Amino acid sequence: MAGRRPHAVLLPLPGQGHINPMLQVAKLLHSRGFYVTFVHTRSSHRSILRSSGGPDALAGLEDFRYEVIPDGVAVPPTSRSSSKKKQQVSKGCVAYAATCSAPLREILLARRGGGGGPPGVTCVVYNWLMSFALDVAEELGIPALAFCTMSACGFLGSYFLEELIHKGYAPLKDEKYLTNGYLDTTIDWIPGMRGIRLRDLSSFIRTTDADDFFLETEATCTKKCDRAQGLILNTFDRLEAEVTEAIGAIFPKLYTLGPLPALLQANHAATDSPSVSTRFNYWEQERGCTEWLDAQSPGSVIYVSFGSLTTLTAEVLDEFAWGLADSGRPFLWVVRPDMVAGGGGNARPSVEDFVRRTCGGGRGFVAGWCMQEEVLAHPSVGGFLTHGGWNSTLESVCAGVPVICWPGFAEQHTNCRYACEEWGVGVELGREVRREDVSRLVKELMGGEGGERLRKNAAKWKEEAQSAAAVGGSSYENLERLAKDLSSGKFQVGS
Ligand code: UDP
Repeated sequence: MAGRRPHAVLLPLPGQGHINPMLQVAKLLHSRGFYVTFVHTRSSHRSILRSSGGPDALAGLEDFRYEVIPDGVAVPPTSRSSSKKKQQVSKGCVAYAATCSAPLREILLARRGGGGGPPGVTCVVYNWLMSFALDVAEELGIPALAFCTMSACGFLGSYFLEELIHKGYAPLKDEKYLTNGYLDTTIDWIPGMRGIRLRDLSSFIRTTDADDFFLETEATCTKKCDRAQGLILNTFDRLEAEVTEAIGAIFPKLYTLGPLPALLQANHAATDSPSVSTRFNYWEQERGCTEWLDAQSPGSVIYVSFGSLTTLTAEVLDEFAWGLADSGRPFLWVVRPDMVAGGGGNARPSVEDFVRRTCGGGRGFVAGWCMQEEVLAHPSVGGFLTHGGWNSTLESVCAGVPVICWPGFAEQHTNCRYACEEWGVGVELGREVRREDVSRLVKELMGGEGGERLRKNAAKWKEEAQSAAAVGGSSYENLERLAKDLSSGKFQVGS
């Protein structure tokens, strides 16, 4: 292996919360001398081109190439219909395995090295839910590393889903178990997760269906990481110390590289690597967010966003709207065109009407999509009402912004527990949204003593995040170790 340039092939799951972390890992490896092939599925590729207004976003470099493979998904990732979106996620996962395996195999076979072409493939880095990539890599004798885009606590909880199923905790015996206190059961045998309750674990256990697609997929794909040569996580050791220690005992080749955007920044400063896009978006950025934020007082704005997948009913949207209105605080709210379930993309007019009628003086700004990391880093932003997706949670940690968590899906409940109980940067908003709760929590976060405490903790974690990513920090060192392990041929398939 020595002397040959290492070549990494990266395969993200097509989804807003998955594509950028994988792109950041790709850029980090590229900066460490790797030749990179980044594989997009067609639907994702199209969405990026559409929102970025042309092919420049996917221009690549001579030694950082994009490949596009068919994904067999009829509905693009930005589908306006929420039921189609849900179907798409489940059908998509099945379709990816059926449709993408052969083209991925071809890409890997075409890059065996030799001649004047790209160097032979050294490793595959795949999103853990695209686990067919592991089968293909194994078949061709190429080392594969799983990249799980969840938090470490989310990953560890999901890693034990199989055991939860085996022990009879999930699926639930009866719908009543959702409300009769059963979810408060403490699980005391997951290492590194003291005091964790069923309700803090993946939402996929909240089913009575023994064949539930999400429960089975999450459990299987997470456990399948056992077969990968290594595991990459977008977190940093100090933030999730006990959990990363427990994962490290199961996965000796664990690389915690988070927060990836901060590591990328520190690494870029150190290596001055040439640049390709750092972010892909499936939606166009709303103009005017920054100008509006510039006009607000420091720390005064509550930023509200529920990520790329969450949908709301019109009633819940109303509760949030009137809660924000009653809080009396300036707010920047992201309402995606496809966010209201059954709304057929009509959410914006009703929200704009609400803003006009209740906050006429410019107290609110509603955007279809924004540059979230920039928004969180803006001095006017003092709090974040979030669904608690991992990227959003980690981005708020990086920005030192405290959160109100409204978890709903997958490991968002676990992230919420850690944000509120372990890191002391958040409070939880109950699942049943009531305007008075929204208003009360926003007021407390933005002006109360409790909010001040959370803000201090958030500022401390921001510093920790920067130290982890800086030269000599844990994530920086882990990147060095990863690049070294991969280029020295240390990983042997089947070992
Ligand atoms: N995001 C963004 N602009 C928005 C809303 C979200 O750039 O207006 C980004 C956000 O910064 C994050 C991602 O979308 O990186 C959402 O990922 P997350 O894991 O938080 O949630 P998901 O969308 O997977 O539920």
